[in-house]
Parts: sequence; C-alpha cells; structure tokens
Amino acid sequence: MRPQFFLLAAALAALPAAAAEPGAARRQAQIDQIVKQISPARIEATIRKLVGFRTRHTMSDTVSETEGIGAARRWIKAELERCGAGTPLRVEFDSHVAPVSARISRPTEIVNVVATLPGTQAASVARMYVVSGHYDSRNTDVMDATGDAPGANDDASGTAAVMEMACVMAKYKFDATLVFMTVAAEEQGLLGAAHWAEQAKQKNLNIAGMFTNDIIGSSRDEHGNQDDTQVRLFAEGLPLQKENSEAVRTLIQTGGENDSLSRQLARAVKEAGERYVPKFKVNIIQRRDRYLRGGDHMPFLERGYAALRFTEPAEDFNHQHQNIRTENGVLIGDLPQYNDYHYIAQVARVNAAALSTLALAPAAPQKVQVRTARLQNDTELVWQANSEPDLAGYRIVWRDTTAADWQHALFVGKVTEFTMPQSKDNVYFGVQAVDVDGNVSPASYPTPLR
Ligand SMILES: [Zn+2]
Repeated sequence: MRPQFFLLAAALAALPAAAAEPGAARRQAQIDQIVKQISPARIEATIRKLVGFRTRHTMSDTVSETEGIGAARRWIKAELERCGAGTPLRVEFDSHVAPVSARISRPTEIVNVVATLPGTQAASVARMYVVSGHYDSRNTDVMDATGDAPGANDDASGTAAVMEMACVMAKYKFDATLVFMTVAAEEQGLLGAAHWAEQAKQKNLNIAGMFTNDIIGSSRDEHGNQDDTQVRLFAEGLPLQKENSEAVRTLIQTGGENDSLSRQLARAVKEAGERYVPKFKVNIIQRRDRYLRGGDHMPFLERGYAALRFTEPAEDFNHQHQNIRTENGVLIGDLPQYNDYHYIAQVARVNAAALSTLALAPAAPQKVQVRTARLQNDTELVWQANSEPDLAGYRIVWRDTTAADWQHALFVGKVTEFTMPQSKDNVYFGVQAVDVDGNVSPASYPTPLR
C-alpha cells in the first residue's frame, strides 16, 4: 500500500460521516420524468413551423402574420404562453433597437423571447441558470433579409430544444430560477444575447451558469457518416481579457487554468447529462468555441459568467449559412430534412438533466480557500457555509493535475473546513455542496488563503 493511500484510508476511517453521503449516486425521479417527456415529435413540429416563416433574418418583415422574424417571435411567445398556462412560467419580449453596425444596415428592433421559471426556495431564487437558442436565421449573404433562410439546424434546432425544455420543465419545481431564452440577431453579431447579458450584469444578476444550443440538429457530417452518440460542449479556460482580473491571476499563479468557472460548470453538465441520458457522451471541448467562430455564450463569458456552447459532433457546411440550390446533384441549404430529430431530443435531454440538477442542487460553495500560512503536505481546505435549508453537507473532489475530470470524491458532512492527507501541490481539489436528495453543485476551486 502506498503511504498516501494509507493516510487517506486512515482519515476515512476516522470520519464516521464519510459513508453517509445522502444518495449522491441516486437518480432523482423528477429528472428522470423530465428527460422521458422530451419529445422528438414536438421538436420536429416546432422546427418545421419555424422553417415555415420562410426567413427569420433579423432585418426581415415584422408586419406579416405568416412570414419573417416578427411572425416567428410572436408565434414563439404564444406557444410558450400556451404550454406554460397554469404554471408559474413568465413569458416576455426583451426588446431594444440596435443602431447601424457592420451587420445592421438600418436601426432595427431586436427582440428576445424570454421565459422565466422562478425558483421556489428563498435561499436559491436569486440564483439563475440560462439556456438559449437563436431563432434568427441567415443564408449565404448575411445581409439578405428577404431571400429564403430556413435555418432548420442553425438555429431552429436550438430554439426548439429550448422551447421543449421550457414546456416540459415548467410543470416542475426547482430551488433556483431557470431562464429559457430564444434570442435574435445572433447572425448579426450576437446582438440579442449581448443585450440581455449586459442588462443582467447591470442588474447584478446571479447567473450561475449559461448554455447556448446552436447547431444541434444533425448527427451526420458532410460525408454522410452518422454519429448520434455524442454532443460537443465547448468550455472556455481562461477568459480573453486585456488585463487579467484578480481571479484569473490567481488561477494562473496556482496552475488552475483548467478550473475556471466555465470548466467547472462543464464538468457538472457532463456528469448530470451522462447520468440521466445513458449511452450518450458529453464531449467537453476545452476551448471557447470552434476556431474563430462564435456564439451567444460569448457575451456572457465577456461579462464574467460561466457559459458553454452545445453543438453537434460534425457540422455539414452544405447545410449551414447557404442559399437553397442544387449543385452537382446535391441539394444545398439549411433544410429540415437534414435534421435528426431523435438526436436533437437527446441533446435537449442532456440540457434538461443538467439544468434540473443545477437548479435543484445548492449553490457551489463560496470563498473556498486552502490555508498556505504553514508549509505542510496535508491540505487544509476552508469555505463559507451555504445558506440552503436542504443542505446535507459538502463533498471534496480531487484529480491528478493531468486529468481532465474528477477522479475521487469524499463526503465530509456539514462542516466548513476539512484537512485532506494529500498535498495541494500534487492534485487539484474542488469543494461541492450536496443537498439531502443527493443533488450536487459544481465544484469550486480553492484559492490560497495567505
Ligand atoms: Zn447559429
């Protein structure tokens, strides 16, 4: 037996609470039900309806009842109101006028459709999780506001997934608040998401996590190879800043580049998604987005929030940002027949399982620190107590410094400090909060307590 392992075993033996973790491996019946109710048929119907508006270009017609972005957003709002009837789901337009810019040729009203499901626990209601898709579409010319732009994958797929989650989840209760958002003007420069994120920052909203679903529609690449067993989850490491903030400096000083807020959120999403959606992999990609491309998570990242992007495993660029046409016998364009509706439902289930877990779990522990005043090979972790009434205690997780995900966990009960018999220099530690039902928060990275 290696000495370190022996020490740990001794520490475990000395800790009667260690075995009494409240069902962390137990599945929540509510989350199983939600996952089961996500319907590929309803998602397909939503996408075909959105495609039926012919174009959802941000500068397209807003007066017609049958065509253009105005009709599309009124339909989305009415649909969310219909399925949220009798539930606390609150559906609103979030509107602003964007001035002329690189991709906006005249002042244009940008309207997000935002459905909020308020949390039911006083200690958690201010903590929010946001999930988005963009309902605007484009064709080859990003300024073409009149040509057909079905956007069945980009991004009716994400929009339909968000609407499906809102409709299913509104009938359940969560401790924290959930925001289901379909946004406009992604293609014109992330304008809808940026507006909402900026308002959130100014109101000092506690957004504990955000994910965008953008291009989650197809399981086939351009060669026709199918892979419906995984989704990519893009997760930023260190944020791109002109000057590093104090938080980022601390991460760099202690080798915590892989333990940013977004990476911790991604680990939690992967754990919940793979727990509730069997045989479906959440493939964390450790970068903010694809090379030189972007999405609606970025305005949130830029404002210091943890934010992630879901995207299908291999995009087919014949069916993205393309005018509908036939070339060499191939039908090009972002059309609904190229979507895989069972695949979209799987991605929506991963989202729903993750959102449910996060919104049922306590907040990630705050002010997690490691005492560094004394040179020693044990690790003294301390943190601030959580305030949720259903808190069961805390879990310490750790992994090798070269490992991507947590390898070990130890439930330590309702304490606010704990000494681990390993050196903080040799592994990465995190502290999670666990509720009485076994819902686990994302991990918090310990900063040095001098
Ligand atoms: Zn998109």
